[in-house]
Amino acid sequence: MGRPFVGYSHVFSFNDPAGMCPRCEGVGEAVDIDERELIDLDKSINEGAFKFSAYAPGTWYWKWYKLTRLFDADCKLRDYSKEDLDLLLYAEPQPLKNPPPDWYATAKYEGVVHRFRRTYPDGVRDTHKGQTARDLARIIHRTTCPECKGARLNQAALSCRIDGRNIDDLSRLSIADLLALAETWTMPEVAPALENLIGQLRTLIDLGLGYLQLGRTTPSLSGGEAQRIKMVRHLAVL
Ligand SMILES: [Zn+2]
Repeated sequence: MGRPFVGYSHVFSFNDPAGMCPRCEGVGEAVDIDERELIDLDKSINEGAFKFSAYAPGTWYWKWYKLTRLFDADCKLRDYSKEDLDLLLYAEPQPLKNPPPDWYATAKYEGVVHRFRRTYPDGVRDTHKGQTARDLARIIHRTTCPECKGARLNQAALSCRIDGRNIDDLSRLSIADLLALAETWTMPEVAPALENLIGQLRTLIDLGLGYLQLGRTTPSLSGGEAQRIKMVRHLAVL
């Protein structure tokens, strides 16, 4: 029904690589790192410029950055040259040009922020506990994905529209409004599918769920709502 034609049903699924937003991989959220919570420019490495407990003075990571001999560990980061600060924070993994004798032969140097982003690409997870979890909650924030604006789909899927609305617009309508709209569509070539859709939307309204949106995710439903939705799915299978 949608125009332009961008593919079959799988391209409208954020779980399918063909449909998911490439930036957030279909999650609808992006990880945002507050670097001021990760790095204190007013401190030197020895004073604890790395504000993440795993990189605090005395830790393995902290020793590792000192071991590179690339930086003056007593100089406040604010006083570094731009090149040195970039190297300390953002350098991609690279071999050291003049490795000190006690440097691990195969080790690559990597900037603190770069390493942090690589280590925690998804932000805070339930598996993180204690101080690490508290640090991550302070440093990492989840924001709506700037590319898909939370729609979770790629731009091709979102470009396909029925009467000016894409699948994200439609799934944000209440079921009652969506039904009213679907009843105005006349598309003989897909009549059975449309009839089926209208029938299922009517069933949800009959169950008192007309105020819900199809885009609302299952975990946000109350127990009663989830129960009734389960019933509709069961009826649909029958
Ligand atoms: Zn996205």
